[in-house]
Amino acid sequence: MSVPSLSQQDVEALREDTPGVGQLIHFNNAGTGLALAPSLNAVKQHLDLEARLGGYEAAAHASADLDAFYSALAALIGGKPHEIAYVENATRAWDMAFYGIDFREGDRIVTGRAEYVSNYVAFLQMKRRKGIEIDIVEDDASGQIDLKGVKEAIGARTRLIALTHIPTFSGLINPAEEVGEIARAANVLYLLDACQSAGQIPLNVGEIGCGILSGTGRKYLRGPRGTGFLYVSDAVLDQLDPPFVDLQSADWIDEASYELVPHARRFETWERYVAGQIGLGVATGYAIGFGMERIGNRVCALGAYLRSELSGLSDVTLHDKGRRKGGIVTFAVAGETPAQTKARLSAAQINVSVSNASSARIDLPHRNLDAVVRASVHAFNTETEIETFVKAIGKLT
Ligand SMILES: *Cc1c(COP(=O)(O)O)cnc(C)c1O
Repeated sequence: MSVPSLSQQDVEALREDTPGVGQLIHFNNAGTGLALAPSLNAVKQHLDLEARLGGYEAAAHASADLDAFYSALAALIGGKPHEIAYVENATRAWDMAFYGIDFREGDRIVTGRAEYVSNYVAFLQMKRRKGIEIDIVEDDASGQIDLKGVKEAIGARTRLIALTHIPTFSGLINPAEEVGEIARAANVLYLLDACQSAGQIPLNVGEIGCGILSGTGRKYLRGPRGTGFLYVSDAVLDQLDPPFVDLQSADWIDEASYELVPHARRFETWERYVAGQIGLGVATGYAIGFGMERIGNRVCALGAYLRSELSGLSDVTLHDKGRRKGGIVTFAVAGETPAQTKARLSAAQINVSVSNASSARIDLPHRNLDAVVRASVHAFNTETEIETFVKAIGKLT
């Protein structure tokens, strides 16, 4: 089968830049994308520079690379460089926005079943602290968030719409743009968790209409671990008060006062993994170089191919839902637990992951599932790897 979008030559180039391919089949890109050589080299080079020059001196030397981080991330999502903050992971990025909202008792959050575990426990903490309420919108018949339900859930006390674009535990791509239209019409703050979508499919904050978006470095963007980013649009900046401030996020004016810096960097901290920031900028620039449209088409096509091949195995049940699906493929094999499937694949040098109900309390149990195997493909994966994978699954059953 031929997958449109990236040429064979492009895929070969991607694989040449991925040192891990050939030794294993990495279908755990939703956990961590397999390292990308240009990004890895940029990290190593900066660490060497720090050793040679001193850490502060190396950062000053690399100021153009640090600027490039902001322009690359802005280009990736269609924002402006000053609307981007570098944060150590997607969870803290999301937190910096969420805990920056001045929730009052009785305020309500509209969310869906795809919501990420850490986001949801933060809702529960805010409920305990401030007495907010959580409105879970049901899925529609296809399995994506029900748009009519979103519209109906919004009321006078709705303070926030929080949506996970692509859940960590399913192939679903939620209709972020359509939710954005509803948010815009209702004039409600809209926070999109784009952790799995950043680097997997094209993103445009203007089209999505989210004021806030969070993402991580190490998954589909294939940047270093311990890196993430937050987008906060100029339009909603003043609706958030950073839960922590430091010398990066604020200027100390005099004994009695400080002023927040006038852009999204008020959500950053001063001390950071500088090499990681440079590496994420490089990884992002790399993805943009290939074109997110083409990468996204290939990831979705490979995901569809994997699903169609797995559907030919009688012992495999697929668990992906939604009208639109991406590169995350979830399933279970009859006669063994997802953990057993993962362990056996691992012995065959095939990486997958398991999503457990403990990380998806409002989704998997709702579908009577304790756990699913998660195979997540990226643009550098191949049809041949998929065929080898499906054969390996077949052998297990
Ligand atoms: C992985 C993930 C996160 C958390 O990202 P970290 O960088 O690990 O903090 C948030 N949301 C979703 C949907 C994820 O898959």
